[in-house]
Amino acid sequence: MSAVIVVHGGARAVPDELAKASVDGVKVAARDGFAVLKRGGSALDAVEAAVRTMEDNSVFNAGHGAVLNADGEVELDAIIMDGRTLSSGAVSSVENIANPVSLARAVMEKTDHVILTSRGANQFAESIGVSTVPTDSLVTEFERKEWEKCKTFVTGVKEEINTQWAHDTVGAVAVDCVGNVACATSTGGIRNKMAGRVGDAPIIGCGGFADNFSGAVSCTGHGESILKVTLARLILFHVEQGKSVAESSQLALQYMVDRVHGAGGCIVVSPSGQWTATFTTKRMAWAAVDRDGLWYGLEPNERFNEQLTV
Ligand code: ASP
Repeated sequence: MSAVIVVHGGARAVPDELAKASVDGVKVAARDGFAVLKRGGSALDAVEAAVRTMEDNSVFNAGHGAVLNADGEVELDAIIMDGRTLSSGAVSSVENIANPVSLARAVMEKTDHVILTSRGANQFAESIGVSTVPTDSLVTEFERKEWEKCKTFVTGVKEEINTQWAHDTVGAVAVDCVGNVACATSTGGIRNKMAGRVGDAPIIGCGGFADNFSGAVSCTGHGESILKVTLARLILFHVEQGKSVAESSQLALQYMVDRVHGAGGCIVVSPSGQWTATFTTKRMAWAAVDRDGLWYGLEPNERFNEQLTV
């Protein structure tokens, strides 16, 4: 079968000045992830590679470019999950790690646990030799200015549909050429969140889920809403009922709007290579590579195609 990767750069009202950089960034990440699949790499390796590319790109709110919490600090969350075994690893509230997705993978592969948080996650990183960076180096000048403008408001997490508040989580889902699926999600959360707030991203079944029996999902959007409806698992529940990945995503996202007034987006891939990128926010930068080349979009119902030149 042919391999597929889909990535997103966060569901929100992406401002016009960041639109091109966001679309360019997801296209590069999709290519990087697909390059792994093309040389026979696993879906797990591909989603990690794609998410690392976006963590390293400061246009996105993950790794470099993360937003600041109400105390002006960085707190990063990430998850990775392997659809073969349901193995999963996650970290929350880590500070000085440039690629939290790889630390999440180490939690999955080198500990008996699923989630490590803050100090313990940092201690674990140190114990296995994951290099740390000065937390300040993850924060852009743009973010410092935006945070200064926003910090007098109530916490950013109160936002709901069509918000302008910053939250540009990144994520990837993939199916490899032997039919294994995987997902990964990484974020700085929502600007001006309370210190210690954990969003949906590192929570299994909320910010992501991967199961070879149904598919892989990475979610983005208003974390408290995603947590309430366990969005990733809800999407796969609909897939298990026989619905397409596109219809399942629409049903679950609409349920989140109707039930808790929360907006968001998701990317989904099935073990047979069906895929979708769906959102209820104003915009979401996404890109995918399948046997027909590179696909991408930003506005609702936008779907451009380019030949893949590697
Ligand atoms: N879901 C993330 C959070 O609430 C934010 C986002 O997707 O942009 O932490």
